[in-house]
Amino acid sequence: MSSSTPTVGFVSLGCPKALVDSERILTQLRTEGYQVVPDYDGADVVVVNTCGFIDSAKQESLDAIGEAIKANGRVIVTGCLGVNEQTIRDLHPSVLAVTGPHQYEQVVNAVHQAAPPKKDHNPYLDLVPPQGIKLTPRHYAYLKISEGCNHRCSFCIIPSMRGDLVSRPVGEVLDEAERLVKAGVRELLVISQDTSAYGVDTKYRMGFWQGRPVKTRMYELCEALGELGVWTRLHYVYPYPHVDDVIPLMADGKILPYLDIPLQHSSPSVLKAMKRPAHQEKTLVRIRRWRDICPDITLRSTFIVGFPGETENDFNHLLDWLDEAQLDRVGCFEYSPVEGAAANALGDHVPDSVKKERWERFMAKQQEISTAKLAAKIGREIEVLVDFVDEESAIARSSGDAPEIDGLVHIDGDYGLRPGDMLKVRVEHADEYDLFASPSEVLEG
Ligand code: SF4
Repeated sequence: MSSSTPTVGFVSLGCPKALVDSERILTQLRTEGYQVVPDYDGADVVVVNTCGFIDSAKQESLDAIGEAIKANGRVIVTGCLGVNEQTIRDLHPSVLAVTGPHQYEQVVNAVHQAAPPKKDHNPYLDLVPPQGIKLTPRHYAYLKISEGCNHRCSFCIIPSMRGDLVSRPVGEVLDEAERLVKAGVRELLVISQDTSAYGVDTKYRMGFWQGRPVKTRMYELCEALGELGVWTRLHYVYPYPHVDDVIPLMADGKILPYLDIPLQHSSPSVLKAMKRPAHQEKTLVRIRRWRDICPDITLRSTFIVGFPGETENDFNHLLDWLDEAQLDRVGCFEYSPVEGAAANALGDHVPDSVKKERWERFMAKQQEISTAKLAAKIGREIEVLVDFVDEESAIARSSGDAPEIDGLVHIDGDYGLRPGDMLKVRVEHADEYDLFASPSEVLEG
């Protein structure tokens, strides 16, 4: 297995935030001269970046560690499951090292121990892409602006795994965004546990970018990202009053008219039991205001049905709320307990059959709304970004579609498009989730 160039295998599991961690670790290792190999056989050591959010993800992570040990034998574990070191070591005593989420230096040190870097490697001479190693397609990238979370939602254990909010310096975030754009990225997906809280921990400290002062705050960050001339999409935003300030940037075309706001429920008593951030905000009033300022805004959210104590009245409140809110994109999960979460101690757990029945009613309602919203786009011209092309068709996304979680725009026919192209299309058909369109004009290639 050993060669003059040390080799690393990498298994990345979990959410976009874990993916960003993987990218950072890989960037560092590549910078030091390691070669990243796609199979266990050719690797001097294998790093498994795990997820520990729900029980099925934990199991997937433990299985992945077992597989890597069987196939290679020299395994370093990192990521969210790494906080349960004992569980990992009990099951897989031969792992070389266990580190937690965003412990980049510790992972890299563990790799150094297992497979020492080449002595003659020169990071200034060796070719490393300036944007780092992207695990996403080359034309979009996640931009992580902070770690951790100051909230304590009762169903979530992320703060106990990742700690309180720590915002990255604004200059560092903007430099990274600029490097990504220079390397060909056309869409930046801003992620964190709570994007609206960016900078709270630093008291909105003044930072510097391109020699000028920029505050560590969501509005200033969005304003600066808007200068880069690519799509900027905001994820994990809570409906606090100051979020209103960024909507004009969307109306002016500086950032995408898109907000991912994980609301989880509408019923005040359920939201209180969930201990959700901004649960006392009048969200419907806020949504109306956003649409007044930016009529084209796409609102995406996720909800949990069957949370402990959720009554039929609470659930009907949610269905009525959906009718009023007319959200564009919605995901829904049946509540499932997470080991270590405070919500497990709540009474009145909802039977599985009721959860399932509520989930089905929820989805039927949202499908009606989504179908009508997409049908209203037929005949309109929209701008899209191409993700995938084969001989007969292309798959693209509009400003209303985040990768992997929202809908698609299907373009039938061979127009010589390539992934990363931007063009204008006219919408011809729609179904519950997707649009079908033909090019009206190629914008940029
Ligand atoms: S906002 Fe709530 S659900 Fe999201 S990470 Fe923080 S505690 Fe967890």
